[in-house]
Order: sequence, then structure tokens, then C-alpha cells
Amino acid sequence: MSDSGRGSAAEFTIHVPADVRRILETIEDAGYEAFVVGGCVRDCALGLPPHDWDITTSALPLDIKRLFYRTVDTGIKHGTVTVMSGNHGYEVTTYRIDGTYADGRHPDRVEFTDRLSEDLKRRDFTINAMAYSDSRGLVDLFGGREDLARKVVRCVGIPYERFGEDALRMMRAIRFCAQLGFSIDEDTYRAITDLAGNIRLVSMERVQAELTKTLLTPNPARISLYAETGLFRQILPEIDSAFDLCRREKTVRLLESLPPEKSLRYAGLLYFETPEEAERTLRRLKMDNQTIRDVKTILSARNLRIGENEADVRAAIHTYGLDSLKLIAAFDDGMTAAKEKITGFPPGRHRAHRLAIDRLMNTVISRHDPVNIRDLDITGEDLMAMGMQGRAIGEMLDRLMALVIEKPELNTKESLKGYVSRMLGHLQ
Ligand code: ATP
Ligand code: MG
Repeated sequence: MSDSGRGSAAEFTIHVPADVRRILETIEDAGYEAFVVGGCVRDCALGLPPHDWDITTSALPLDIKRLFYRTVDTGIKHGTVTVMSGNHGYEVTTYRIDGTYADGRHPDRVEFTDRLSEDLKRRDFTINAMAYSDSRGLVDLFGGREDLARKVVRCVGIPYERFGEDALRMMRAIRFCAQLGFSIDEDTYRAITDLAGNIRLVSMERVQAELTKTLLTPNPARISLYAETGLFRQILPEIDSAFDLCRREKTVRLLESLPPEKSLRYAGLLYFETPEEAERTLRRLKMDNQTIRDVKTILSARNLRIGENEADVRAAIHTYGLDSLKLIAAFDDGMTAAKEKITGFPPGRHRAHRLAIDRLMNTVISRHDPVNIRDLDITGEDLMAMGMQGRAIGEMLDRLMALVIEKPELNTKESLKGYVSRMLGHLQ
């Protein structure tokens, strides 16, 4: 092995899946070096299941294509070839030295190298810069294992330089803190606070992707690091105030109390905004339309109280739809749990109310009560045949809906027609 050196922990082993081991061995048998690297080594060292296995190698992309039967040119310019094994693809990337990252993801220019140490040096954090193979053991040149033990995210090299090359790394640092429950090393933290302004160089799509990942971790409260470091002031000044002295605890507790679902966690983050303000913020973040719709629904129904009776429950299903009602209920539970954490008081009648509504909801749904216009036992054509036309038809259907929401037993063609005739007679 050139200069990569062996990690201090010769006893350290990772259980590499058979597919991945075969790939490493094939490359090594051809005379090159190959290691699993990055997130999978970090996660294994923490005893967590890795979600992908990335491989780094001294072999050039064309060598990899020669060595394996089925490959895909995923990012061959940047040195990455995907090797297929069964249905699964593994990214094999040639050791490289990166230029700057204009898009925050791919360096503008890469240079291949045959030194593992150079490849590890370009990686963002010490905990992400470890490599491992069964034949060579752990390669940990920057104290990654020690930082895992200390639970800190620390830059490889000089933080100012690393964040200067790629500003997205500042957000990645916070994301890994949230993902792993870590804190940020002091020098790395200081560099983020000093260079926070650089985050404006990163596209909103990438900012949003990192923010979303952070929000969906088991420690969404770590998101307050975005405010503390000054990153929010740069990218989302309107959210910054949700972390000021009086609101911070509420925001943090709420985020912690919500299930890891995108629209729920974004609604928690934007709790202090009106639905319209939240929409503006999310559009600026280039959020997808479905999430924007869901967040607006959740925020506009923040204080929705459904009466504990079947008619009110049918009306709520009609107005919001079942999927949205589930989100609204989950958000409501989160708010209640957050309040409980803050005040220390039990949530009073909230649980009983939620159970009562859930029971009513089940009854209404399993009985197939009418909750939508299409459930009505009368159609627009029926109304036309009765001489109605234009906008009046839609308005009549709405009235009939309101009627059967109150009294579902009236949802028969006969009684609805009777009602319509009486109304028409009345109007003439
Ligand atoms: P995850 O669990 O989210 O997949 P990961 O560590 O695998 O975490 P990826 O974004 O998949 O993160 O990147 C894989 C590896 O590539 C990282 O572990 C790190 O070594 C390196 N890396 C990724 N993005 C950057 C970056 N912006 N700057 C430097 N190195 C990076
Ligand atoms: Mg990964």
C-alpha cells in the first residue's frame, strides 16, 4: 500500500457483505487497491446499518469497466462507475483530488491519483474519511474513530479552507450532527459562523435537500445550529426568529415531538408563519408542490377542533380529505406533546378527544357514509334532466352534500330528487 498507512486499530473489523467483498477482491486480484469508504465505514464503526457501500480504488474507471461484466457509467467524468451485482449497484470511484465544487456536489475538475491518502484528504469530515478492507484493515489518517468516540463532527484539514472550497459542507456538518446526535468541533464551528455568508453561493435545491435531511433525522432539534451559526440568517431569515429566545424552546420541542415526515416537520419549522408566508418560504426553497400544499393545510388547520359527533366528522373528512386529516391529527398530537414537555402538565382531555374522533372516523368510514360529492346518490346529469343548468348544478350538489353530511339516511336518489324538486318549486 503506497502511503495510506494502517489505522491504529488493527483489531477493527467490519462485516462487509459478500457482494461488496467480491468486488474488493476482484479489484485487488487485478493488482489495484480497493476499500469501502465514507458513510458505510462511519456507520459500521458506530454499530449502525449502512445504507450504501461506496468503494474507492486506485484502478481507473476504464480498468473497473474491464474487470466487471455489468457496469453503468454513473459519473465516469468524476471517476465513478457503478458495478452491478444482482439487482444492486455499488459505486466504485477512483482515488481523486478534487477541484472546487461549484454545484456543492461534484467538483468542477477532478484529478485521479493512486494514493488513498489524497482521496481521504479531500473528504469533508474525519468521521467520513475512513477506509476499510479485509486485507488492509482500517485506514484512519485524520482521527475519525477518535472523533466518533468524542461524538464530534470535525473537518479534515483546515475548516476555513474546506468550507471555502464547498459551502454546502457547512450544512452537511449540521446534518451529520442531527443524524448522529453529535456536536460540532470548536474550530469547525467557528469557521461556519465566520463563513456562513458563503452559503448563498449554493443553489436553493441543494440547500433544501440538506435542510430536509436534517429535519428528518432523529434529532431535528439540532436544526437550531442553523440559527446559532448564522446560516438561517443567510438562507431563511424569516425562520431565524423561530429560534429567538422566546420561541426557540417551542420550535425545538415541537420538531422533536413530530414524526419524521417531511410536511409535518416543515410545518413545525414554519409554525410561527401564516400559511401564506410558509408557502412563500417553501417556494423560495424550491419545495415540491405536494409538500407545500400539505404544510399549508396543516398550518391553516392548526387549531381545528372537530366536534365529537358523526356529522362533524363527516364534514371534516369532506373538507380536508382523509390523508390531510391524518397529517392534521399528527401535528396536533405533536403540539400537545410539545406543550406537555414545556409545561410539565399532562395534556388533559386531548387524548380522550383524539380517541373519540378516531372511533367516530372508523365508524363513518367503515359504514361508507357519504363524504364526497361522488358519494351522492344523484349526479349532475340527474339535475340537468330536472331542468337545471350551469353553475346552479354545482351549487345544488354542494347543498345536497351538506344535507347528507347531516343526515346520511337521506342519500337515496328518491329523497334527493324530492329535495331538489321542493327547492326548485320554492325558487319559482
Ligand atoms: P449518508 O449516510 O447520508 O449517505 P455519506 O457519508 O455516505 O452519508 P454522502 O453524501 O453519500 O454521505 O457522501 C459519501 C462520502 O463522500 C462522504 O462520506 C464523504 O467522505 C464524501 N463527501 C460527500 N460530499 C462531500 C463534500 N461536499 N465534500 C467533501 N466530501 C464529501
Ligand atoms: Mg452515502
